[in-house]
Amino acid sequence: MSTGEPHNTTDVVIVGAGLAGLYMLHAVRGIGLTGRVFEAGSGVGGTWFWNRYPGARCDVPSLEYSFGFDEALQQEWEWTERYPTQPEILRYIEHVADRFELRDGITFDTRVEAAHYDEAATAWTVTTDAGESITARFVVMATGCLSAANVPNIEGRDDFEGEIYHTGHWPHEGVDFTGKRVAVIGTGSSGVQSIPVIANEADHVTVLQRTPAYAVPAHNQPLDPEEVGRIKADYADWRAVARQTTTGFGGYLRSDDLTGALEVDELDRRQTYEERWAHGGLTFLGAFTDLMFSMDANDTAADFVRGKITEIVEDPAIAARLSPDTVIGCKRMCVDTGYYATFNRENVDLVDVNATPIERFTPNGVQIAGDVRAVDSVVFATGFDAMTGALDRIDIRGRGGVPLKEKWAAGPLTYLGVQINGFPNFFTITGPGSPSVLTNMVVSIEQHVEWIRDLLGVMAADGKTEVEATAEAEAEWVDYVNLVASATLFQGCSSWYLGANVPGKPRVFMPLPGFHEYKQQCDQVAANGYDGFVLA
Ligand code: FAD
Repeated sequence: MSTGEPHNTTDVVIVGAGLAGLYMLHAVRGIGLTGRVFEAGSGVGGTWFWNRYPGARCDVPSLEYSFGFDEALQQEWEWTERYPTQPEILRYIEHVADRFELRDGITFDTRVEAAHYDEAATAWTVTTDAGESITARFVVMATGCLSAANVPNIEGRDDFEGEIYHTGHWPHEGVDFTGKRVAVIGTGSSGVQSIPVIANEADHVTVLQRTPAYAVPAHNQPLDPEEVGRIKADYADWRAVARQTTTGFGGYLRSDDLTGALEVDELDRRQTYEERWAHGGLTFLGAFTDLMFSMDANDTAADFVRGKITEIVEDPAIAARLSPDTVIGCKRMCVDTGYYATFNRENVDLVDVNATPIERFTPNGVQIAGDVRAVDSVVFATGFDAMTGALDRIDIRGRGGVPLKEKWAAGPLTYLGVQINGFPNFFTITGPGSPSVLTNMVVSIEQHVEWIRDLLGVMAADGKTEVEATAEAEAEWVDYVNLVASATLFQGCSSWYLGANVPGKPRVFMPLPGFHEYKQQCDQVAANGYDGFVLA
């Protein structure tokens, strides 16, 4: 439903009304341009509109997982918990949309199907599934890194007579699992968050695990008003410190005397890990400087977490099955509430689908090693076709009608993760080649939106109508991203960072580690008159 008058031209078409699309609309309006947002969902929120599964929560503390661009906004909004729930984040995003009067620029329930560049007109034509066609000088893809659901193709799915859910498309009215036998497929972040909650409600839960996850406890709690007051008194500075980190959050925990894990003796090392474990959350991996660079150092953290799993899980065989043997941190770590302890419950069992794959669905369950496990409901917690999936699902054509899909056939190519050679006036927010999913994404989104807004402002001031990354800048950037990634342990396992969860997807490490350095590079490019771009 559109709340605004339909126009067939605008300055900027923005696809997606999550955090990125909303802030982009606000930003383009702020420099006097017109913008129109198309959103496939019926409301704002993106990730937090769609992912309503039980236990859905943020893994970045609420005071950091929020916009810092407006002082009044950050002062007036009151978070209630350290790690906000999906409903609370959605309320926040709805507040942002209302506060900045953005809804009249958004067309909901409308999927963008194509975006084609017309070189002669220096304009994009965007078409939607509602049959609308709109012309815009610029297109910004705020389509989300984790918005295209990944559903494994398991034989016989249509034969299954029970209910099937995907965590990323959860029914708005909720699901009552009371008295049900449930199979949960997948033990990434969504599985780790939802399994304990589903197990509390359901009659029985079968967890189908391909790769075990490393999870650190959230130790979620209500926020202490005094602490909030202290942070808010200095909010802008506090945010600035976060922007100087590699992940865009946790700056307040940074210490100048951090060392390598192998530079301290075993007792000190263990104590540091215990402190981080007791603190909870993703900053566990910030305990030492070398955890993502040295395999020996990484092993010490991995051993510590495996030790915790063994302590928590009573059955040693199940503990062993739950214990990952991969590099810790090469997948985004999970932040959990009672995940491992859930496997001590009598109504939960764990199947290793690497050893015994799911053979097929039957009308009343899933067949594994010849046996049918009867279940009433199946939950796919199987994640997303990350970073490129949402773009792949749109027919995007640049100069000469070249499809983006063709250009990216061997993996995504970008300059700074914001632009693509051959696709002028087309931007991606938190695109491949930028830190995006390795960070607090609100910080990355703000940085990209503001950088794009400034570029559009400069173009307007200088009377430029077209901007395009050069082929050389793009090639150098791709090499640079590979070089940075190869110096880390991020490529040490089959992760969605590499596209490894989607059959046939090229194995390329897509995000760039290191937010702070990246931001400096982007600022430098702008200061040098947009090095690596041609402004015509
Ligand atoms: P999204 O929120 O994904 O929004 C993109 C929107 O684009 C969607 O609404 C989608 O419907 C729309 N769209 C896509 N294609 C089209 C199309 N063709 N036409 C029209 N509309 C389209 N990040 C963190 O930093 N910390 C966390 O703790 C965290 N937890 C997460 C938990 C889950 C379950 C998931 C899935 C992601 C999580 N993320 C987290 C990442 C999260 O995606 C980002 O933090 C952030 O919400 C992304 O905002 P966005 O606006 O870029 O994209």
